[in-house]
Amino acid sequence: MNSQTIKAELYTALTNTLAHIFRTPQYIILFVTDVCWMRCQHCWFNEEWKTRELTNSALTFDEYKKLADSIDQIKFLSLTGGEAFHRDDIVELATMFRHKTKLARYQIPTSGYKTERIVRATERLLKANPDTPFRVDVSLDGVGQIHNEIRRISDGYKRACTTIIELNKLKQYYSHFDVGVITTISHANQNTVEEIGAVVEKIHPSGEWMINITRGNPRDPEATNVQLSAYKKAHEIIDRRIAEGRYRGHGGHQTAKWLSAKNAVRRQVICDIIEGKREGGGCAAGSIGGVIYSDGSVKVCEMLDKPLGNLRDFNYNFTALWNDKAACRVRRFIQETNCQCTQECFLSVSMLIQPDTWSGMVRERIRLG
Ligand code: SF4
Ligand code: SF4
Repeated sequence: MNSQTIKAELYTALTNTLAHIFRTPQYIILFVTDVCWMRCQHCWFNEEWKTRELTNSALTFDEYKKLADSIDQIKFLSLTGGEAFHRDDIVELATMFRHKTKLARYQIPTSGYKTERIVRATERLLKANPDTPFRVDVSLDGVGQIHNEIRRISDGYKRACTTIIELNKLKQYYSHFDVGVITTISHANQNTVEEIGAVVEKIHPSGEWMINITRGNPRDPEATNVQLSAYKKAHEIIDRRIAEGRYRGHGGHQTAKWLSAKNAVRRQVICDIIEGKREGGGCAAGSIGGVIYSDGSVKVCEMLDKPLGNLRDFNYNFTALWNDKAACRVRRFIQETNCQCTQECFLSVSMLIQPDTWSGMVRERIRLG
């Protein structure tokens, strides 16, 4: 056996063992709707993808309940879509998951378009779940017209900025709350990173700024035509702010700064992957992390086109689906093929089982103070 085969065997054994111990993923991306208020150029969750992949009707509230009943614990739940705040019952849905699972933290990403609706639902969630850290991440992809053009909506920028400012105000009343800003670097905004960084610092002075890079097959194929230098520039801006004490990063719970430290290392990991300096393998998608779509289909991640099954075919028993032969086969496939990508969420969970990233996270945590 060569070292690559040994590594694949070890990671296959580790990921299967973790899936078996935890029974269901501890990091779950749960699609609660496929409806969205935007039509972003860089979006992989577009009409073509949805028509091809979402072949069943959407899960009902009762079906989400049965799913929650089959889960013992979730360390991190992302309620996403589409636009999760589009659901009139998003507060009830998230609260139901909190009641039925040992939910440690949860998050909702949003376009920030409907400020009043988002802020109202956020405050209701914070009141309904006072002991569970919660974060809302708002997308800001450019300054003014660039944001609007990327998101294909005329007043998106103004509204997203207002939502960021209003949500930040809630932080002073709810210590278990955090706000993040996410910028996806694409072809359309790559030359304006400094301007975006300046606006983010102004309206979201010390909170976390997360940088994503366009992936998958977006609505506008040109969106993936990105220079790595733009991503690096954003990384440098954040790095400079940390060095100058102008960056506090994540908040809302005791281990929040570790998330910012992880994000700092993750940015470097993404640069290394794009530059071909990092070996593949060791991805924790399919073991610690997993994705459930609104039609009940389950996948290891948002990138790999290898469905594990549909919850409806397993009588909503997520444990049975997650430990079925198909899931074991995909976990082996991931390690044997050295699967590698820049999907930020799954890099985050994978770094937990990749020892070469740990010292960097400790160093960044110290730097954040
Ligand atoms: S990127 Fe998000 S907000 Fe934009 S169209 Fe896709 S799902 Fe909607
Ligand atoms: S490396 Fe990327 S595509 Fe491959 S399994 Fe992990 S998250 Fe999915």
